[in-house]
Amino acid sequence: MTTIAAEKNSTLPDLETRLYLNGQWVDAEGAKRFPVENPATGEIIAHVADGSVADAERAIEAAGNAQADWAKIPPRERSEILRRAYELIIERTDELAAIMTAEMGKPLAEARGEVAYGAEFFRWFSEEAVRISGDYSTTGDGKNRILVTRVPVGPCVLVTPWNFPLAMGTRKIGPAIAAGCTMVFKPASQTPLTSLALVQILHEAGLPSGVLNVVTTSSSSKVVGSWMSSGIARKVSFTGSTEVGKILLTQAAENVMRSSMELGGNAPFIVCADADIDRAVEGAMLAKLRNMGEACTAANRFLVHRSVADEFTEKLAARMAALTVGDGSLAGTDIGPMVDAAGRDKVQELVDDAVALGARVVVGGDCPDGPGYFYNPTVLADVSAESLLMSNEIFGPVAPVIPFDDEDDAIRIANDTQWGLVGYLFTQDIDRALRLGDELEVGMVGLNSGLVSNPAAPFGGVKQSGLGREGGRVGIDEFLEHKYLSIPRR
Ligand code: NAP
Repeated sequence: MTTIAAEKNSTLPDLETRLYLNGQWVDAEGAKRFPVENPATGEIIAHVADGSVADAERAIEAAGNAQADWAKIPPRERSEILRRAYELIIERTDELAAIMTAEMGKPLAEARGEVAYGAEFFRWFSEEAVRISGDYSTTGDGKNRILVTRVPVGPCVLVTPWNFPLAMGTRKIGPAIAAGCTMVFKPASQTPLTSLALVQILHEAGLPSGVLNVVTTSSSSKVVGSWMSSGIARKVSFTGSTEVGKILLTQAAENVMRSSMELGGNAPFIVCADADIDRAVEGAMLAKLRNMGEACTAANRFLVHRSVADEFTEKLAARMAALTVGDGSLAGTDIGPMVDAAGRDKVQELVDDAVALGARVVVGGDCPDGPGYFYNPTVLADVSAESLLMSNEIFGPVAPVIPFDDEDDAIRIANDTQWGLVGYLFTQDIDRALRLGDELEVGMVGLNSGLVSNPAAPFGGVKQSGLGREGGRVGIDEFLEHKYLSIPRR
């Protein structure tokens, strides 16, 4: 077995680093591999299989061949595989968290939180697997019976980003298993190790051969492109940038594939004059700093009523200034590194642009010395609406505060974006909360709360933040088709 531990003097557990095709761990074509870096240290922590188009073709063929038998497996069996995998993930929380921290940087406490969150999708969908139901009715003229069943969509292409390496996988694999779909899965090239550990768990939990096939690769567009044009895949479920989502939607059109897209965000965080400011600051810490700000749900624009803007800004800056930036594997670290140098440099460019347009740096605004790609928690006051960070995902620990004068003003700024994933709203007035909640053009609203993600809730956005929902009671629908039998009454 090729393991991480074999490659370096590592504290990480032994872990497969090959492709997983048709139930077997195999080398990539030509035994090619690519490196995985720890963003806190710049060290290479592993080399994983670099899948080719030929490997990808083997993967989609395996998924296609396994589909018919897998669809016939009783729901209870599918449910129990997910339940066993859930238990194994929880048992291995510390191992999984260590892998995640090493490959993408988040502090260990947050990585453990993601393990719990990610595992919960398996428990949730293990419960949903046995609740797939249909419908029965008669036609209006009484001459026909209408029997509606729910059937798996078919082989699915799953593509995930680096920022939540475990949860973005379980959020797709869970409902696909529950619905009876087979899969080809390409995790992000910067964080393949967590996904491979997850696949190992599903293998141990008894997932039959061919149901899940995993290709790690440094040639994402070629590998995924071959799946999209294969004619075998019936659905694509993607989480990542809007830019790549649009490419996949264009490719999906060629074969008229079902598509679920969880794309970028530009979340407004609105603090009204009547808000409980301490509670708003607490919510802001969560909405801004979860995952170092590298989250699609991260609060990107803090719209604060002018009468409370100074108080909110000062209190938030005091909390941000007290945080410890460092290697996420060390005790006491609150904020880990950005995922790479490009991510860190983009954050700096956005801050520099805002400052050039008149913003005031209340705290932070710069990077600590390397090694590692760290960025200091930052609060910017008096940010101009023209600043680039108003229309770009910051993806870093930077909170720009933009004062507003009335509700209409706040809603106009909040909705002035191509995205519509989530909005946060802090007010103690129930009428205002409901009114503004209605007017925000988003798929999710956090009311007096800085966190909306939960496996029991439908996660997803409107506008260019995506199509479809993951989690909740509707999450499984993305992987099912309605099939109708027309039966004459005789
Ligand atoms: P990304 O660049 O779009 O990459 C996402 C995935 O797509 C990766 O596996 C990537 O592979 C792959 N990919 C890249 N180019 C591709 C292509 N031409 N064809 C097929 N696959 C391709 O996004 P990211 O930087 O990893 O993640 C950050 C983005 O994800 C942000 O925009 C964030 O808002 C969004 N996100 C959304 C949600 C949500 O639920 N709405 C959740 C998390 C993140 P490589 O790794 O090899 O490049």
